[in-house]
Amino acid sequence: MADIQVRDKLYIDGAWVPSSGSTTIDVINSATEEVMGRVPEATPDDVDKAVQAAKRALDAWSTTSAEERSKYIQRIAEGLQARTMDIANVVAQELGMPINLSMIIQAGLPTVTFSSMQQLIDEIKWEEQLGNSLVIKEPIGVVGAITPWNYPLHQIANKVAPALAAGCTIVLKPSEVTPLNAFILAEIIDDVGLPAGVFNLVTGTGPVVGEAIAAHPDIDMVSFTGSTRAGKRVSELAAQSVKAVALELGGKSPNVILDDADLERAVADGVGKAFLNSGQTCSALTRMLVPRSRLKEAEEIAVKAAETYTPGDPFDADTRLGPLVSETQRKRVRGYIEKGVDEGAKLLTGGAEAPDGLDKGYFVRPTVFSEVRNDMTIAQEEIFGPVLSIIPYEDEDDAVRIANDTIYGLAAGVWSVEVNGGAFNPMAPFGGFKQSGHGRELGKFAIEEFLTTKSLQL
Ligand code: NAD
Repeated sequence: MADIQVRDKLYIDGAWVPSSGSTTIDVINSATEEVMGRVPEATPDDVDKAVQAAKRALDAWSTTSAEERSKYIQRIAEGLQARTMDIANVVAQELGMPINLSMIIQAGLPTVTFSSMQQLIDEIKWEEQLGNSLVIKEPIGVVGAITPWNYPLHQIANKVAPALAAGCTIVLKPSEVTPLNAFILAEIIDDVGLPAGVFNLVTGTGPVVGEAIAAHPDIDMVSFTGSTRAGKRVSELAAQSVKAVALELGGKSPNVILDDADLERAVADGVGKAFLNSGQTCSALTRMLVPRSRLKEAEEIAVKAAETYTPGDPFDADTRLGPLVSETQRKRVRGYIEKGVDEGAKLLTGGAEAPDGLDKGYFVRPTVFSEVRNDMTIAQEEIFGPVLSIIPYEDEDDAVRIANDTIYGLAAGVWSVEVNGGAFNPMAPFGGFKQSGHGRELGKFAIEEFLTTKSLQL
């Protein structure tokens, strides 16, 4: 068994300090089911210490020049770049994303996000004259950041980088399922000498540490990424102190394939977008809408494409589909597959039983359903596993109606003769409508999220 990575301290006020609690959380390797690490299970008292440190640091940090802040952020980006392999390795184990993808997405994307701040900070209109008033942008204050496990460091970077750029100070609570990568970021931040208290890391569970952050009266804004269920709870708690809330929540995104599309490309691309990160992607295009007249063709292509996603060891260079993150997640996803069968969807490939030859690890078969009706559970609820639902439609109006018939509003795709399959752009704003949340991340919109506007009448 590999060495266990034990992190026994929190990062508060520029120093590594023990938690006031005595319990720890085990981190599990998702491909081997073995304990790979351990982190402190912090307490509300630890949160309070971190918040007080962030509050003390706010005056000085919020009044440093944008240029000065941008220098620190750039040094963090360089630190991340230097530790690409450490980050990719740890996330490939905690989460199970195949190592090659983990390098590009889990380590590469956060580096891009931090280094993009240098340019974006100059695009903010910090002051403008409006008649006899001077309108200025100010940091919103102390930010509580709560993040999930599916793109752990990316989601942390999406909050920490722009909040630092805006002049805010931060208390971060990463997911307790994948917390180890956050310690690498804290080490980098410590190395670059960010002033004490500007960034604080407190690990622990949602109901304890997450709720203490959401409810803390000295936190001015909580930026949350996670499930719609927990997002609602965070909003309720945050309302008591009228703090600003940004929510990046779940999705059940449609991918409308029009009848003139190149089906080979559109369907194969759609399967890839549904299965990325073993389907554990909030913006995954999990409902594929196909004209009924071309359903048979689409089904054949989807099965062929899905069967190329053989589940396997994340550290094998050929693996395209890693395990799911946890036992809970595997149980949940298998439950949805069984529900799909029970509710009468047609199982084209995959299924709830364990994939052949993989008796360890949280693996699930890449699964495609067809003849799915949009009112079935598998078309309405976020599954967060490698499960695609093909839904036939009659005409374009019908397709639009089905696409919008969801409580979510995060992503969507359309395939016609020309658009199609545009790449993810880390400079473009990202965020939801409806129960997928509110607020935007990435690009200059992300910095603006952490600013508030003040007008001075002259
Ligand atoms: P989750 O809601 O269980 O947990 C997310 C974070 O919230 C974790 O840090 C957790 O500890 C914390 N948390 C849980 N309960 C809490 C509470 N009562 N109060 C405060 N904090 C609490 O979600 P997850 O399982 O980690 O992540 C999967 C979910 O995240 C999916 O629904 C997915 O769609 C969503 N997600 C959304 C986006 C986006 O940008 N829209 C991105 C990634 C993931």
